[in-house]
Formats: sequence, C-alpha cells, structure tokens
Amino acid sequence: ADIYYRYLRKRGEDAVFICATDEHGTPIAVRAEREGVTPKEIADRYHVLIKDDLEGVGCAFSIFSRTTHPIHYETTRAFFLKLYEKGFIYEKEVEQLKCPRCDRFLPDRYVEGTCPYCGYEGARGDSCDYCGRYLRPTELRNPRCIVCGERPVIAKSKHWFFKLSAFQEELLKWLSRNEKLPVNVKNYALKWASEGLKDWDITRDMEWGVPIPVEGGEGKVIYVWFDAPIGYISATKVWAEQIGEKERWRKYWGKEGGARIVHFIGKDIIYHHAIFWPAMLMAEGSFGLPYTIIAGEYLTLEGRKMSKSRGWVISVADYLKLLEPDPLRYYLVMAAPLDRDADFSWEEFVRRYNDELVDILSNFIHRTLTLLTRYFNGKVPKPPHLTEKDLEVLSSIKAAVDKVAENLENFKFRDGLLEVMKLAHLGNKYLNDTAPWSAIKSSPERAAASLYVAVQIVRALADLIYPFMPFSAKRLYKMLKLKGEPENTPWEAAKEKLPPEHELGEVKPLFKKLKSEEGEKIRRSLLPREERQMAQVSLEEFYKAELRVGRIVEVKELGREHLHLVIKLGEVERSCVARIGGKYTREQLLGRQVVVVANIKPATIRGVRSEVMLLAAVHDGEVVLIVPEREVPEGSLVR
Ligand SMILES: [Zn+2]
Ligand SMILES: [Zn+2]
Repeated sequence: ADIYYRYLRKRGEDAVFICATDEHGTPIAVRAEREGVTPKEIADRYHVLIKDDLEGVGCAFSIFSRTTHPIHYETTRAFFLKLYEKGFIYEKEVEQLKCPRCDRFLPDRYVEGTCPYCGYEGARGDSCDYCGRYLRPTELRNPRCIVCGERPVIAKSKHWFFKLSAFQEELLKWLSRNEKLPVNVKNYALKWASEGLKDWDITRDMEWGVPIPVEGGEGKVIYVWFDAPIGYISATKVWAEQIGEKERWRKYWGKEGGARIVHFIGKDIIYHHAIFWPAMLMAEGSFGLPYTIIAGEYLTLEGRKMSKSRGWVISVADYLKLLEPDPLRYYLVMAAPLDRDADFSWEEFVRRYNDELVDILSNFIHRTLTLLTRYFNGKVPKPPHLTEKDLEVLSSIKAAVDKVAENLENFKFRDGLLEVMKLAHLGNKYLNDTAPWSAIKSSPERAAASLYVAVQIVRALADLIYPFMPFSAKRLYKMLKLKGEPENTPWEAAKEKLPPEHELGEVKPLFKKLKSEEGEKIRRSLLPREERQMAQVSLEEFYKAELRVGRIVEVKELGREHLHLVIKLGEVERSCVARIGGKYTREQLLGRQVVVVANIKPATIRGVRSEVMLLAAVHDGEVVLIVPEREVPEGSLVR
C-alpha cells in the first residue's frame, strides 16, 4: 500500500493513505479479562506498537487512526441506523450460550470446546484453529466458559441481522464485472457468493464495542466485522478534521466523487472485504464501492509458520534496531509477491542484500559518482559526441520509467522493482563496456560521454527507487544535489537529464556489503533461537517412571492456584497437590479417571504432602488433564 501511495503522490494524484487499528472484538476483550485490565488499555498498548512498526518501515500514512475514536462510533451508529431505516437490518431472537456462573452471554472467543468438524478440543466459539473452519459458539461440543470453566447453557437473546441475502445478485454482478479485482480475490468471493449468502448476525452480547443504537440494544454491541470496515470512512473523517477541511472526506467516499478506493488486505480477510463490505456499502447507498482489493499472501519464517506464542517471529522493532528499513522493503517486494505465500529466510535476505542491492544497485551508483568526482571535479561533463549506443541507453531510461509505472499502476510491485533493477544492471554493463577509467587516458571525450550517460541512469534511479526504498531515494537525492525531495518531485522527472556542469554532492555508498561475521551477529540477535535439542532418554530410564491410571475421589481447594486431590490407585489412595486451581471445578473432577506418576518423590506443597503427580497438557496458560480414552481398572499401568 505504501509503495502504491508514494507512486500516486509522485503522479500528482490526490491520494489519501488510510490505516487504523481495529480495536473491538472478543480477542481484545478476552485478553483484557485474562490480564485484569480494560480492553481499552490493551488497545492503547497495541495501537502504539503497531503504529511505530509500520511508520518505522516508512509507511507514509495520511493518518493511522483507531476504531475507538469518537468519530468512528458516530459514523458506525449512523451507518447502522441508515440500514435499519431502509429495512436492511432486522431483529431476531436467537439462541446464545450463556454462562450460568458468570451470568453473562459468551460470544465468540468467550467460549471454547470441541470442534464439531475435526474434534479438536481447543476450538473457539468463532473458529477452529486446527481445521480452520468458522464456527458459531452453539456448534461447539463440550463448550466451556473461558472465564470460569463452567459449562454454558443456551439462552435467548435479541440480535440484529443484516440482510446479506438481499444483495446476492448485485454482489455476483459486481464481482464478475469488476475487471480490476485480482483473480485470487475474485474467485474466492465468487465461490462464496454463488453458494448462497445467509443473513448476517451483526450483534454481540458484550460491552466492548460500538453500542447498538436502537431500542432494546442495551448491553449489546455491533459485531466487530460490521464496524471495522466503516473505520476506513471514519479514519478519513478524522484525517479531514485534522487538516482543517472537515468535509474533505466526502470527496473520496461519496459515490459522486468517483474516487478509486483500493483496499490492501491479508488473504484471511478477503471474505469480509469482498462480500460483507461491498454489500454494506450497497445497502447504505451513498458511498463508492471498492475499485479493487489487493490481498497479500502469508509470510513464513525460515519455512515455518510464524507464531508469537511459540516465539517463532522476528519483530519489526528488533529488525529496525539493527538494519535499515529499505532492505526489508526490498526483500518483501522481491521475495513475497502478492499472489503466493513467501518465506523470509536470513540466507536469502543476505544474498539479495549483497548480490542485488550492493552489487547491482549501490555499486553502479557509487562507481559512476566517484568516477565523476575523480575525473570531472564532481560535475556532470559536457558530452562532445554521443554514439548510437549512448543514445540507445539514454532512451532505455525513458522506457524503464514507463514500464515501472505501468507495473505499479497494475499492482505488480515485484515486476516494477525488477524493471528498476534491470536499469541498474544495464548501467553496470554499460559502464563495464565503455570503461571510462581507461578511456580517460586515451580518449577523455569518450570517458565524458560514458559518465554523462551513466549519471543520467543514476538520476532516473533516484526517482524510480523512491516508492520502494524511500530512505535511499532521499540519500541519493542529496548525493546528486537534486532540488527538492523525491516525494515532491513528479514521476516524470526521472526522464529529465542532469545538465552539463551540474554539481554533485558528497558521495557515499547507498548500501554497504553485509560481511559474513557481521551478518552472523545480526542473525543471532534477530532470529529466534531454534528449539532446544531435546534430551533423549533410554527405555530403561523411561520405565523408571511408574505411570498409572487413578480415579479422583476427593477435591479440596488449596489457595487460588492449587487443588488438593485424593486419587485412588487400585487398593491404595494417594494425596496429590495439583496446580489446576481455577482451571477445573470440583464437579468436573470428582470421579474422573486421570493419569499420574505414581512413584514421584513425595513433596510438601502449600503445607500438604503430595505423593503422586498429575499429568496434563499445557498450552498458553491452559491446563488440560490427560485421561484414558476409556475407563480402565484403577491402578492400571500406563506404558
Ligand atoms: Zn476443527
Ligand atoms: Zn463463566
């Protein structure tokens, strides 16, 4: 999005670059619940982190807003009311899960249970992480309240529905006629739309979110996926207010304005942007529909899915402490085309950095400028006579400028950058062929002609690299002593020639080679460590542990975190202090068969002697007991 925006600005287009943090929804509310803070505090924390990361890599937002802004609440309410008045939102009584102990409804992620499709036990009320299906809380088998662990009951609640089904035909038409939609987005959305669209529940029984603006909506909020896209409009309003032209946002969003609205999203939210959002806009009626939707694919790290909880990530903030933003921007464009998943590999990053950015781009520029400094007092020479070859190279600059532009206009960022690099490559080759360093002795006129042509390529590169690598473009502008800044200079300026006698600035390499020791040092501090090599145990050692099946016959609370259990192992009963307080209730445990280490060295925990150890699976603060697949005699050995 940033590359596209920077390009549009250079084209003199009236472009606004809008982004915001989407701050409602149960993930934030649940997180707040677990940390004992308000959802707003969580949202505040992440808003700053995300903003710093994106701006740190050079995203030149017109505004980076948030969906907790009062203008967003106002805009969402008005949007909802308009659809309500037009009859596109209606009320319906629905069955929801409710926790009898917490006395509240359990929307989306407030409930977990077993996935009805794949049997995964950690499925959430809105989706199953294992099979990837979207779920409704009532579909879960063995549901439990994530706050207290209690089994929820079904209760009636009044909800509001958006008549998505009424827009099926119009959506199908819009999707199939939109020539600008990329194939991945178009096919995905068409498939959904043609399978039949159901009306959409846009209400949640919770406090965190935009309140329902009609009677009977007390204690309920608008579903996050209804309010989030409205954030594009409200953020534009906030921006307009900030620049003191309150009504300016209408120019971009009003149907009559004819502005092109381009969404840049991740592929996991195509459904929301290519189905829900256009249907909402069609229903509202006064706003323009998306011009296109560009959906990026996923980025893996060293061939594996990134995961924050497993620590398999590189944070942008850490990257920026060690390296410049431009090489990362370059790498992401080159290695992560928009139409397929890509990988961040350190080796590949270093290779592209050294072989492409340094050897091709930076070296060409540096050689040209230092030769000019050495032989022509840092001034552009006056070429006495240009050969056919010289003229050919000069005209390929113009062609390259147009090709890069064409690719950017068609959202082919990688192809655009390849054209830029091709021009730098051509410059290198031309320099090698004409060898001004040896021509300077035999034929100074030839050296002058050669460097005159080469510096014109450098001149063009200063503008061509700008959308991709804005920080380097700025530095190159200084080295070339170009007037103004790359962001204020029109795109076509890349075709202009530096006149003879034009004086250059101080020359420094644009990129310096990442030496192997240096690269290794960065790699070690940047990349997550490989998981520890697991210690191996022999069968003999393993069998020293006596695992047995027992039955819980008594449960007593022991402080907040522990439970004191009595576990029957055949003839004997054993005392067990387990750290599962708050995870299971007495009722859930009594009579259950579990697996214990029967010969663990006894210990005294919280003043109570513990003789056996309970086995449980642990993940992300969750504790799940290990139980035999069916009942077996108590005391049975586990092998
Ligand atoms: Zn599943
Ligand atoms: Zn509960």
